[in-house]
Amino acid sequence: MMQEAREMLRRIYGYDSFRPGQEEIIGSLLEGRDTLAILPTGGGKSICYQLPALLMDGTTLVISPLISLMKDQVDSLRRLGVAAAYVNSSMGAQEYRDTMARAIGGEYKLLYAAPERFDAPMFQSLSEQLHIPMIAIDEAHCVSQWGHDFRPSYRQLAHAIARMGNRPLVSAFTATATPEVADDIAAMLQLREPSRFVSGFARPNLSLSVVSGVDKRRFLASFLQDRKEQSGIIYAATRKEVEEVEAYLQGMDMAAGKYHGGLSDVERNDAQERFRFDELKVMVATNAFGMGIDKPNVRYVLHWQMPGDLESYYQEAGRAGRDGEDSDCILLFEPADSSVQRYLIEQGTGGEERKSVQLSKLHAMLNFSRTQRCLQQFIVDYFGERDVPPCGKCSNCTDKSEPVNRTEEAKMALSCVGRMKGRFGVTMAAKVLKGSRDKRLLEFGLDRLSTYGLMRHLPERDVADWLYWLVAEGYLRLSEGQYPTVSLAAKSLPVLEGRETVMQRVRASVRKSEAGHA
Ligand code: ADP
Ligand code: ZN
Repeated sequence: MMQEAREMLRRIYGYDSFRPGQEEIIGSLLEGRDTLAILPTGGGKSICYQLPALLMDGTTLVISPLISLMKDQVDSLRRLGVAAAYVNSSMGAQEYRDTMARAIGGEYKLLYAAPERFDAPMFQSLSEQLHIPMIAIDEAHCVSQWGHDFRPSYRQLAHAIARMGNRPLVSAFTATATPEVADDIAAMLQLREPSRFVSGFARPNLSLSVVSGVDKRRFLASFLQDRKEQSGIIYAATRKEVEEVEAYLQGMDMAAGKYHGGLSDVERNDAQERFRFDELKVMVATNAFGMGIDKPNVRYVLHWQMPGDLESYYQEAGRAGRDGEDSDCILLFEPADSSVQRYLIEQGTGGEERKSVQLSKLHAMLNFSRTQRCLQQFIVDYFGERDVPPCGKCSNCTDKSEPVNRTEEAKMALSCVGRMKGRFGVTMAAKVLKGSRDKRLLEFGLDRLSTYGLMRHLPERDVADWLYWLVAEGYLRLSEGQYPTVSLAAKSLPVLEGRETVMQRVRASVRKSEAGHA
């Protein structure tokens, strides 16, 4: 079968070889196993269900929420000579009836539909009249409330499939799912002992950097000095900042444009078009900019501050280097910027559960900003892909600064957190180490801890940063939820027992600012 699949890849699609993951996914489906596949956008998910569909008897149903995408897929399948069709809410009643009649006549190898089209009675009648070997579900994260795009129609879909008389093989595809979301997808869709694949998230042509402790404007000016002719995107969190950064770039005689939700449709379209045709070199934008831009030659994406989660970060940063050429992704990180994100979450409309999911995503984003690990590895690991070697080109892989021995400071912080028994957050732990006279601290009697005031020589903010660094490196753990408490992680014991040292790289820029404090 696999042999046949390879042959079809060449004959029908004209491709010489499979992309990472495709072969394993197709193999799993051809063995008849429910399959959950997580591949990045552009990773080549469609072939993973189209090829097996062509090799199976009957009509495969493909569930996809995006009408425009559905149409594109069906058009390109038809060009390849594959009998395919779609039904969705944009088509007239007559066209719908005709298509369904042909489908029931067994004319199609693949039938695409929006999830709301496929309710239980529809499935029932289809499966009574048609042999359906497989249902392929695209954008499968929509079934999970933990994902970022939950759709009730996907829940209905799961129920409908479960109730089908002759349940087909089910395959689910998504571009974004942390391991927890993947578990949830498998559970919600009631996949049967699914095989799971995650691959293709690494982007070897991107150099990721986290830059902190710098004057952002000065950094930007020097960064852009020899990049005036390159195409780039600068993401800022608020409309106001977009306006400010754009004005700053105009002042530097850069061909800069702006894009955010406060502009008219005409202004936004105009900016997008001018950027697309390289009239504007750099676009300063909120996260509103991105849907549907697929500009190949973006040489850098710079984040003026961190977004609220790694999914958004990587999606935005990943707009650099679509053409495969070397490109840079720079995140300007100031710990204080996270309070903007925290505020947005707390003011948001989500329920308590939703907010706590968002807060733990924010923590992962913060850990990324502070980690000393390979940044590329950190991200793919977050998405559940293992065994990716260090990239060799991110700001951590290329960091030549001498690591400084921080074991003593680590012991102070860890033993303090240990004594606080996991009942308080990072802020309170920092206050204890600082020796603060905070009212709540005194009420709890925390000034009687032997670790009280151990780090009184440092500003409280630096103590908190230090604790967060220990979190990022896995010595400390933050609980989930809206008011996360901090406690010791397993990795802290060898340090407390004096068996291991803690080394911290201190980047030049940070060292300079520390010198400034002194
Ligand atoms: P996704 O749905 O994962 O975003 P697609 O299935 O649309 O991605 O595939 C993205 C592009 O990659 C398409 O143009 C597709 O034809 C191409 N592609 C997929 N698999 C291969 C392959 N094995 N070799 C070369 N190109 C491929
Ligand atoms: Zn790296």
